[in-house]
Amino acid sequence: MSTQVTKSDQSRASTQPVAGSAREAAVLEAVPTQLLIGGQWRDAEGGATLEVIDPSTGGVLCEVADATPADGMAALDAAVAAQPGFAAMSPRERADILTRAFELLHERIDDLALLMTLEMGKPVAEAKGEIAYAAEFFRHFAGEATRISGGYQTAPAGGARFLIARQPVGPCLLITPWNFPMAMGTRKLGPAIAAGCTSVIKPAHQTPLSMLALGQILLEAGLPEGVVNIVTCQGAGKVMEPLIRSGKARKLSFTGSTKVGKILLEQCAEKVLRTSMELGGNAPLIVFEDADVEEAVAGALAAKMRNMGEACTAANRIYVHESIAEEFGRRLGEEMSSMPMGRGTEPGVRVGPLIDEAAQDKVTELVTDAVDRGATVLTGGSAPEGEGFFYPPTVLSGVSPEARMGSEEIFGPVAAITSFSTEDEVVAAANDTPFGLVAYVFTNDLRRSLRVAEALETGMVGLNQGVVSNPAAPFGGVKESGLGREGGDTGIDEFLETKYIGIALA
Ligand code: ADP
Repeated sequence: MSTQVTKSDQSRASTQPVAGSAREAAVLEAVPTQLLIGGQWRDAEGGATLEVIDPSTGGVLCEVADATPADGMAALDAAVAAQPGFAAMSPRERADILTRAFELLHERIDDLALLMTLEMGKPVAEAKGEIAYAAEFFRHFAGEATRISGGYQTAPAGGARFLIARQPVGPCLLITPWNFPMAMGTRKLGPAIAAGCTSVIKPAHQTPLSMLALGQILLEAGLPEGVVNIVTCQGAGKVMEPLIRSGKARKLSFTGSTKVGKILLEQCAEKVLRTSMELGGNAPLIVFEDADVEEAVAGALAAKMRNMGEACTAANRIYVHESIAEEFGRRLGEEMSSMPMGRGTEPGVRVGPLIDEAAQDKVTELVTDAVDRGATVLTGGSAPEGEGFFYPPTVLSGVSPEARMGSEEIFGPVAAITSFSTEDEVVAAANDTPFGLVAYVFTNDLRRSLRVAEALETGMVGLNQGVVSNPAAPFGGVKESGLGREGGDTGIDEFLETKYIGIALA
């Protein structure tokens, strides 16, 4: 039976830029719009450009260089040329550059946050949070740069000695998504720079400005020419595939969809490139009957609404014990419906637009599908009229496991609630997905929390908390959610090779 989705009554703040527009123009004026190759800002071959869109209006913010494959190769050649010199730079000097970049990110946090809001849509307060989070990767890896350790060991039979050295992997290709335009960059560049690797980094075409601003900061922080090269382009596959297949780079680190990750893994196989893959998620959030409901609602709100749900860590399937499902849904609905939606530059706005029209259409489709399969709309449920790619905070209860949003990433502010009755049943449901990035569990029973955390097939678990991202913790997934870990005390290992030197003593 098909049920009509109710029209949202979400209040929408004005989408007209008012007081901030002069400042917005100044911030856009200050950001470089060319490619960064070998320490020089330069136009794309032939002068081609791509448009950067403001998702709150659909209007064009500015244009940046649209690199050709030849530009991409020039960037990789610059990274290759800079590699030996950078590998020879002292760890302390590399650490100092990262520390200076950390400081500059904080000094310019207001302008950088506004820039990010303009190109990506998230509210300025969240954008500021992301810049601070992004800067932490530089602070964390500044410390790691000076702590790269090796080993010295006696061979089991005696006589020979083993010297174990760590060396930079070599030139890297780094590909980042649009949802965290700054933090996904520093999460890769921090360990690459700390380890002594040069790189070509390609931001998503929707959000090139934050990365270009970061490039400017890295140069000001003293990073030598050619160590980080930035390639902005519309045709990611066309530009990146020849670089991967050239074999000149030794590693690819990618954050994005599982679909593209699989294509890249195949391309990397040809020259046996090292890979780090942060791919899609389908995070379950489980609320047991013994949980503190208020805490669980707050956790679900964080896990769902951070970045308007446009995060691979977003709670995609919310399982609530049948004894508290109604209360939980009502309270989450109250919280979500009170979040003001509008242009992220407006004071008080907590929900910005989605990244583009395709994202808005996908969320609309998934909600319609869930409702067609019997879900009830507790709040939200339809895109508002007018400019921009908005979708209101939406809570659905009684979502069928057969609904598309049970197996596809929603990537929007839609909380999909399903009730359950037993621990075994919910753990089986949570694991019934090819993805395994993160899971969230709310319970006050210590034994249950550890039992369930161990049984969940994910790389990360949030216990009584709705956010797991932390530069000092190892971020990453299992199954089709990825390979490798970023951040934490092992994040730098992704950019280091181990070399064993056997030594004869006699
Ligand atoms: P999303 O669907 O969230 O945009 P994608 O996986 O498509 O995720 O994009 C993540 C990043 O990967 C972006 O920088 C995008 O430009 C890039 N990308 C997309 N397709 C390819 C490809 N075939 N080769 C290399 N990079 C790609």
